[in-house]
Amino acid sequence: MQTVGIIGAGIMGSGIAQTVAGKGMDVILTDISLENAEKGKAGIGKGLAKLVARDKLTQADADALLARIAPVADYSAMSGCDLIIEAATEREEIKLRIFEAAGKVLGETAIMASNTSSIPITRMAAGSPDPARFCGLHFFNPVPVMGLVEVIPGLATAPDTVDRMKAFGEKLGKTVVLAGDEPGFVVNRILCPMVNEAIFVLGAGIGSVEDIDAGCRIGLNHPMGPLTLADFVGLDTLYQIMKVFHSTTGDPKYRPAPLLQKYVEAGWYGRKTGRGFYDYSGEKPVPTR
Ligand code: NAD
Repeated sequence: MQTVGIIGAGIMGSGIAQTVAGKGMDVILTDISLENAEKGKAGIGKGLAKLVARDKLTQADADALLARIAPVADYSAMSGCDLIIEAATEREEIKLRIFEAAGKVLGETAIMASNTSSIPITRMAAGSPDPARFCGLHFFNPVPVMGLVEVIPGLATAPDTVDRMKAFGEKLGKTVVLAGDEPGFVVNRILCPMVNEAIFVLGAGIGSVEDIDAGCRIGLNHPMGPLTLADFVGLDTLYQIMKVFHSTTGDPKYRPAPLLQKYVEAGWYGRKTGRGFYDYSGEKPVPTR
């Protein structure tokens, strides 16, 4: 892989762009507008400036990394990419429109991958130009820090595509695990119901935000509490994931917690909107319940 297209310049697309460019590959980054793609790149620049200030990265390396990321307005610039990674909003209709449009410029041997958290790969592959060259490639947040990537073949994904995705993940310095094409794959299938359950516990008044988080941090030795994690992931994204689990399996145990739905309806998506289970407007996050 030398040139990678990334569609979606939000939390994940930006993180993937930074990681890929950090390994010397060129990135073409797009979003719903050139302005959004440029905003994504500017966010990466801010993060890199912090690393430079802490002597974790040289200014020259930060400049070189940023120079490898090209924000663009449309997909035409991606025709020379070896791989296109879709990291747009977790809504199937949005992703299907992207695969159709980006599929028109996908090179003859290039791979199309989705960073979806929950939407079946086989179903989305059917909307891409060549399901044999379509694969799930699930990164973890924050991408530059987290050491895992899940590779998820759909029913029609060719073994060669899987091998190339594994090699790509390893080139990024990640541990690659292979996961089946079932809702949530391996890690989110375990994690998201747990975080959703923490929101049920909060909604039922069994514990406060702080006590639920402290309970899991200290009692389970988790690095952060489930409500802090939910705010970090994005409550809108978590809600969409639980809805996909629920509708795909038909199993009521996956229904989104009513309080999660309420927060999403209020526009409280967590860190990215400044308010979720914590308020991020001050110096330190303050619990909102
Ligand atoms: P986000 O809301 O931060 O970013 C999504 C971006 O997609 C936004 O910038 C939005 O403008 C853009 N977008 C929407 N429609 C688009 C379109 N038609 N074309 C191009 N861009 C479009 O969300 P995120 O957290 O970065 O999630 C992106 C994907 O990654 C989702 O599929 C999500 O499930 C998955 N994911 C998220 C996490 C997480 O912890 N947040 C972890 C792993 C995977």
